[in-house]
Amino acid sequence: MREPRRANRYNGHNGKIMSLDPHRTVAELKELRALTGDENGAQRVAWTDTWLKSREWFQSKIKGLPVQHHYDAAGNSWTTLPGASDKTLIIGGHLDSVPNGGWLDGSLGVTAGLEVLRRFAEEFSGRPPVTVCLVDWADEEGARFGRSLLGSSAFAGTSSIEADHGRTDKDGIRLEDAVKRCGFTFDRFPEATSGRKNAAAYLELHIEQGPVLERMNLPLGVVLGTKGVERHSVTFLGQEAHSGSTPMDARHDALAAAAKLALEIRSIAGKHKDAVCTIGSLKTFPGIVTAVVGRCEAALDQRDLDAQVLAGMYKEAQEASQRFAREEKCTVEWSRIWSIQPIAFHPALLGFCEEAVREVSGSAHRLPSGPLHDAAEVARSGIPAVMMFVQSLNGISHNKIENTKEEHLEMSVQALDRLAAKAARWILNPAA
Ligand SMILES: [Zn+2]
Repeated sequence: MREPRRANRYNGHNGKIMSLDPHRTVAELKELRALTGDENGAQRVAWTDTWLKSREWFQSKIKGLPVQHHYDAAGNSWTTLPGASDKTLIIGGHLDSVPNGGWLDGSLGVTAGLEVLRRFAEEFSGRPPVTVCLVDWADEEGARFGRSLLGSSAFAGTSSIEADHGRTDKDGIRLEDAVKRCGFTFDRFPEATSGRKNAAAYLELHIEQGPVLERMNLPLGVVLGTKGVERHSVTFLGQEAHSGSTPMDARHDALAAAAKLALEIRSIAGKHKDAVCTIGSLKTFPGIVTAVVGRCEAALDQRDLDAQVLAGMYKEAQEASQRFAREEKCTVEWSRIWSIQPIAFHPALLGFCEEAVREVSGSAHRLPSGPLHDAAEVARSGIPAVMMFVQSLNGISHNKIENTKEEHLEMSVQALDRLAAKAARWILNPAA
């Protein structure tokens, strides 16, 4: 691994000394943490005062730059550096966090993107060859109302306004009222699709939120795409019976069948390199120590980047559940909670991302993303997109102990900047 270049001053356009200052990004992330976090972590939950405060802070950072700013109909924050061409390079992130979240999830994408925007403005004296936009997506996390990727799905035209209308938070406050309090109208969210007009490429830098890069001792990674998800409720039905009087061989124990499935999914996932299967919730009924479990509801989540692998794992889990139900003299029912197809990022942008990562860190590893990101919504809408990951220490995120080495953060800003420069050239001349 090469040493990160701390100052990173290089000769840009016209031989003028240009400065990208990754150190400033780390300082700004700390500033934001101090302003919007407490002893339990980041508190920038979307549609709250602390989130609005983080957006005000962002406004103070773009003062003096030759940029225009507007909020779209879905509350996404757009900072535009107009270029000679209308074709637009978009760099994205999200300032919102989960409650008691980490200091880097989402905010790294925004602050690193801001630094890249500054570099474009300086290098091209305020007018780069292509238009460069930084977007801070509204409500990526869905932490308060249970709807992730809210702003980016409105932009992508994949939002579910009807279904989301009635959403409330734990205090009974309606999503549309929380949105209104922040100055937006929920019914107008679909108008955010107009922002796609000149979009030519989308880039997003994010912390990995998993342990893969750290295990490989790599600071940066190229993200192939986001995994597809099959999420199902699997209910085993047996017979409630007295736990004292019912002989072991006379039981219809729904929990026993569910438990077998919980273990079996490990080998189902284990046949594929990057696949994951999780039973994250089990509910037993009647749920008392003196009764054999008559009904057991398991929530199963399966993910892979390959649609065929995902479909195969889903089928295998169904077959296994039927086998275990028979063995335990139970029956089983499945119902889909949610699913999404795998989303692959754009091949040309993947190539540039790989070059950028290699130039800055010496080697480039390609990996899929298990979590969904705004970039997936953008890619779904047909805009070429790619993501870059930076290593997460201990693979921990959505937690106040979320962290990344500062030298890795700085390298990630450099690599994003190089990727942006390559993507901008490609936008103007795709055949080159
Ligand atoms: Zn995030």
